[in-house]
Amino acid sequence: MNTALLLASLATVVLGRFSYEGYKVYQVTPENEEQIATLYKLRGTLRYGLFSDSVVPGYPVNVMVAPAEQEMFLQIINEDSLNYRITAEDIESKISAERERIQKTSPVAKGEISFTEFQTYTVIQDYLQQLASSYPDIVTVEEFGRSFEDRPLILIRIGAGAESNPTILIDSTIHAMEWISTSVTTYIIQQLVENSDYRYLIENINWVIIPVLNPDGYEYTFTQERLWRKTRRPGTLCDGVDANRNFPYHWGGNGTSTDECNFYYIGPHALSEPEVVAFTNVVYKINNLVLHLSMHSYGSMILFPWGWTTELVSRSDELQQLGDAASKAIAAVNGTVYITGPSSQLLYYAAGNSVDWITYTRGTLSYTVELPAGPGDGVLDGFIVPPEKILPICQEFWPGLLSFAHQSAKIDLNNADGSSRLTISFRQWAWVLFMYCFRCADGI
Ligand SMILES: [Zn+2]
Repeated sequence: MNTALLLASLATVVLGRFSYEGYKVYQVTPENEEQIATLYKLRGTLRYGLFSDSVVPGYPVNVMVAPAEQEMFLQIINEDSLNYRITAEDIESKISAERERIQKTSPVAKGEISFTEFQTYTVIQDYLQQLASSYPDIVTVEEFGRSFEDRPLILIRIGAGAESNPTILIDSTIHAMEWISTSVTTYIIQQLVENSDYRYLIENINWVIIPVLNPDGYEYTFTQERLWRKTRRPGTLCDGVDANRNFPYHWGGNGTSTDECNFYYIGPHALSEPEVVAFTNVVYKINNLVLHLSMHSYGSMILFPWGWTTELVSRSDELQQLGDAASKAIAAVNGTVYITGPSSQLLYYAAGNSVDWITYTRGTLSYTVELPAGPGDGVLDGFIVPPEKILPICQEFWPGLLSFAHQSAKIDLNNADGSSRLTISFRQWAWVLFMYCFRCADGI
């Protein structure tokens, strides 16, 4: 980051809270590989990088540009004849409106959860502890490490069956600003623990779920800088590391940056972030890990490795098939289409991410889930999800999770053991019929 940009960034911090005054969102549509290369170059230069997910010819890309970067940005895209339009110039007012709304909303009672608003890390932790107290036979809550700023890293284990059962791991919000992913993950926890219709899922599967993997960053997005992505490790010019570029597999490869001011900064070395170290230690200790979901936003995508190369992973057919089945199940709710495919081909290169690392070390089926954006096509509509959309996004993802769970853990509902069969509700039988019909359609 040059000095002018640094001073401009410092000037935007008003009364301790970051201001987005003067920031603009541009929508750029690359038409050929050369223009895509220009966007990749910009991604390595701009403070906020690209906020859109598809970087393929003909698809629009949203880019947030700081005031001090506008001239450089326009010069580069004009040199390459990239078409653009401005989609948002009032970023600060939208973020202020969201902050004021949250401040005015009555807090939930301690230990409760609500999906009508986004919840702080304290609320999430209190809810998990309440579940551990109310359901001691099936729930344990565990501190698996401390964040850089010494917050507890918390996971919840849910299971009512054998220790040898297959395990599904879900982590969420390694990227701080992606609030909807914590909402969806908390909703999954609620359904597994509090909805007896799904008892069979915890009798047949052990669940390890981390609703906020980057609590320092998450807290910072509520109090200081709404669109913060990284951890909160102090830097020389800029703070934070992209924890999802800090895993020790092709660390520093494609789609990363060694510039500490960049959105995709890899950190001083692989595993520099305590959150990443703690997470890898959790993964090493899990027996019979059959599925990993890393929850992100936005883009409505189900992505699988590799992130560091466009080469296909060895289980790509199986990954595609499970991803497609989950996508169909989600689409059946409200018509929301999640695109499925390898992340380096659908999203962009992302070396050093958790999904690549888990695939390499464990051989497990592992996906990045990009949850849907809010309405509209501007960058803020991607991350600033309106509160009335939270619950629908959670509810429409749930059938996708059921599909993933049934297939990865190979749960045959028709042949479930006696205790499980008694707990299968009408809803589950409807699900079997639903999946059967999709298979029929596939076979035509
Ligand atoms: Zn993310």
